[in-house]
Amino acid sequence: MEMKPEYIAAIVAALAIGYFLLGRRKAPEQKSFRCARCSKTCQHTPRTINAWRNGKSKFFCDSCHSGWVRFHPNTQVGRIRGPGSRSGCLGVLACIVFIPVALIVGWLYV
Ligand SMILES: [Zn+2]
Repeated sequence: MEMKPEYIAAIVAALAIGYFLLGRRKAPEQKSFRCARCSKTCQHTPRTINAWRNGKSKFFCDSCHSGWVRFHPNTQVGRIRGPGSRSGCLGVLACIVFIPVALIVGWLYV
């Protein structure tokens, strides 16, 4: 099977896009965040990075978070998001990866 340079370029582009998207999920771009409650600028902690990975856009500093947990002792933080939200996120990710690949493949076979 002959490997066209365009074909290799398409694979490299697809891998680069995938790597970029997966790499972005490791940690937030900013090392610090503004607390959504007290507006204090704080460093990300494993807790807020985990929340960021779960798709949260609002973060709370440790003192606000511990206050919130005290105020809502019966709330399981991990149970707020339904089981369907995870697959929805993956569906969006698949679309983001699929669309450029489809465009490249379509462009190659025109
Ligand atoms: Zn705060």
